[in-house]
Amino acid sequence: MIKTPQQKKELIISKAKELGFISIGITTSQTSDRLDFFYKWIENGFNAEMTYLARPDRLKRREYLMNILENIKSVIMLCYPYSYYVERKSEQNTGFISSFALMEDYHLLIEEKLNKLSNYIKDSFNANTKSYIDSSPIFERDFASRCGLGFIGKNTMLIHNTAPCFIGEILTDLELPVDDLVMSSKCDNCTLCLKNCPTGAIKEPYLLDANKCISYLTIEHKGVIPLQLRHLLGNKIFGCDNCQIVCPFIKDIKNEIPEEYNKLYNPDLIELLSLTQEGFKKLFFKTPVIRIGIERFKRNVIVALGNIGDKTALEILKAFKQTQVSQLLNEHLIWAITEIEKKT
Ligand code: SF4
Ligand code: SF4
Repeated sequence: MIKTPQQKKELIISKAKELGFISIGITTSQTSDRLDFFYKWIENGFNAEMTYLARPDRLKRREYLMNILENIKSVIMLCYPYSYYVERKSEQNTGFISSFALMEDYHLLIEEKLNKLSNYIKDSFNANTKSYIDSSPIFERDFASRCGLGFIGKNTMLIHNTAPCFIGEILTDLELPVDDLVMSSKCDNCTLCLKNCPTGAIKEPYLLDANKCISYLTIEHKGVIPLQLRHLLGNKIFGCDNCQIVCPFIKDIKNEIPEEYNKLYNPDLIELLSLTQEGFKKLFFKTPVIRIGIERFKRNVIVALGNIGDKTALEILKAFKQTQVSQLLNEHLIWAITEIEKKT
């Protein structure tokens, strides 16, 4: 029996929910209003070393989604929730790993689910699809907010009304009824995220300077952590949740961290420093932490130990420095040792 676009949409939503997506919205491929803002953002260098964002081929696709999928008719936006804990014990010499990383790498987890949904759409409705999670030149947050999945907060994140979420999307040539539910910001006079950003990376409401963002510095940034920012990283070794933890719209949401990842909740920095390559792979198996590699990870651990300044770490750092460490690690070790010596 031939299905109406509305019936097709309902079937897609039902399949998406079955796969664990908590919110699904449909929008058009219309060029985002944020395009000019984005060009200016790039022009000002706020994308830091993420130069791929400024690649002409990506910009071409970002401007017109038909450059990604010819005959595109609809964009299906999907939210997948992640576990979130607001309070963390601050024990001596423990590190902080962002909540989104205390689970299986979302790229793998959600890609699999998006592929299943895409195949369902292809097989059921004979349509073409392209699906992405965090890998396409698409204004994901903007597209999600224009079909009612949340609003873009002053911290530049999508604020979903029930949980922090990963956003994925499926582009399709299938004509589907659009959810014309543009959600504008509900931040009003709140500035909590700006006030609680340790580095001032949220330069002004809705404007993030990635050069200063701890998430960027501890995850994407490959080289030396700028000296003037090191002490602001605190004990953060992979990401930073500050601007989300304080948000009144999500701060009361506490989901359990999956049990198998509890050991990563307050990891001991001294133990992390002594990890072998195999140990690193075993401990962070399947999590997104594995993506930054052991060297960048240890760079972050060393900075955190320097910031905590506990003298019990001093001899361990010195001994580690005597091993054959890279120039990158050596530079951060010298800094951390000096920091601890200054504090003790
Ligand atoms: S993730 Fe941390 S450093 Fe980055 S903007 Fe948010 S609070 Fe600031
Ligand atoms: S903390 Fe306040 S200003 Fe920031 S995103 Fe949440 S509501 Fe908006």
